[in-house]
Amino acid sequence: MAALHDTLGRELGNLLERGRDRQLRLAVTGLSQAGKTAFLTSLVNQLRHAGVEARLDLLPAARDGRLLGARRLNQPDLGVPRFPYDPAMQALRDTPPRWPDPTRGISELRLELRYRPARSGWLRGAASHLTLDLFDYPGEWLLDLPLLDQDYYQWCQTRPFDQGEQRREVFAEWLAAAEALDPAAEADEAVLAELAEAYAQGLRRAKQLGFSQLQPGRFLLPGELEGAPVLQFFPLPHLSKPREELEALPDSSVYATLATRFRYYQKQVVQPFYREHFRRFDRQIVLVDVLGALNAGPERFEDLSRALGELMQSFSYGKRSLLRRLFTPRIDRLAIAATKADHVTPDQHDNLVTLLNSLLKEPLKDLRFADVPVKALSLAAIRTTWPREVNQGKTRLPALRGTTLEGEDVLVYPGDVPAALPDAAFWQRQGFDFPRFRPMPEVSGALPHIRMDAAIDWLIGDKLT
Ligand code: GDP
Repeated sequence: MAALHDTLGRELGNLLERGRDRQLRLAVTGLSQAGKTAFLTSLVNQLRHAGVEARLDLLPAARDGRLLGARRLNQPDLGVPRFPYDPAMQALRDTPPRWPDPTRGISELRLELRYRPARSGWLRGAASHLTLDLFDYPGEWLLDLPLLDQDYYQWCQTRPFDQGEQRREVFAEWLAAAEALDPAAEADEAVLAELAEAYAQGLRRAKQLGFSQLQPGRFLLPGELEGAPVLQFFPLPHLSKPREELEALPDSSVYATLATRFRYYQKQVVQPFYREHFRRFDRQIVLVDVLGALNAGPERFEDLSRALGELMQSFSYGKRSLLRRLFTPRIDRLAIAATKADHVTPDQHDNLVTLLNSLLKEPLKDLRFADVPVKALSLAAIRTTWPREVNQGKTRLPALRGTTLEGEDVLVYPGDVPAALPDAAFWQRQGFDFPRFRPMPEVSGALPHIRMDAAIDWLIGDKLT
């Protein structure tokens, strides 16, 4: 009798525990082109087809047949746009299939997962559910966190337009005009708007060239703020006067006007994102297009590394971190994924993870120190290639078969992924080159992928036991 009591008590305890745990807010981020839209589309698709068509062998709940599927529910945050899952699937089902249009701001989708818990005893068999709120937001927004620790004067000193030769070229015209501006002069709205637009254009151009470390982040993906005066500021390149003198300038001066807009941006744009959204995420996956950066060459690769260093500050939970001082984040598990792994042959996937680890060495150290569990992996949200072997003389070489965006079937060997940060020698003999592949027509109902199941297991698997 006592034993039965004990068992009952334990089972009830488990149930209560689960009751508390039945909701999870999972966020997906990454710089634009990292693969967020593809990832979230595939994530929803895999979960909706779990238990039937989806291949999710690395997710125990699915492998054991306990994950029964997922359905969409209305999301609770009515102010956040809905993640466009149906248009994304439509694009992938088109003839020929197309990549979904990327999302440009924050979006959300709520799923209810049904699963059978792995419990033993007489409660076995009853289905449970987990409400999963999925969010997608631009990693560019996280590049703005360091701005909260600076005032306008300090931000100008960081000279964000002045890193590397190519970047200087992009900003050259804006720089010449901004240098001619006297901080003490009366602000002329039209001139400031024009220069702000030129600065934003410089950022957009740098983005097109493949640069990642670009501030302020909202200038690139303004969402609903497009054209608003809060985005009409820029750093003043030459502040020859001491700070006190500049700060004593009248409110109508160029310096004071720009400094006011900078403060407004901090308070009304950057802080609300962290307060209203970021602070409430439970789990997070950061997507990184490592292969794209390798393809783009050394200056872009270096730049990605710097941008990731800044972006990851949002997950640096050291006691005295900026984030902890300002907000109280609660992310308790993090995944970092190198995306588009189907661009390289499977024998290169381990190197891809090692390279990702090297790229994020410092931020990962901080996270481990702060005891935030973090996993690095490589994946393809929507797999577009299949491995093959080709004969070269007596040796057999691994290769990939896929269809390019233009519709040409190709057999390629895209190159070796360096296992450590690439050195000058790597860039010199750089043979790393891959085309963009077209997604495959859908056959089974579930999208083909590489290791989406491993990512799902790390992010939510413990909630499905
Ligand atoms: P976002 O800007 O972060 O939302 O990035 P997207 O999800 O729109 O992805 C950008 C582009 O990367 C897509 O248009 C595809 O060309 C490519 N891509 C994304 N995911 C994959 C993948 O899993 N495999 C391949 N081969 N390409 C991908």
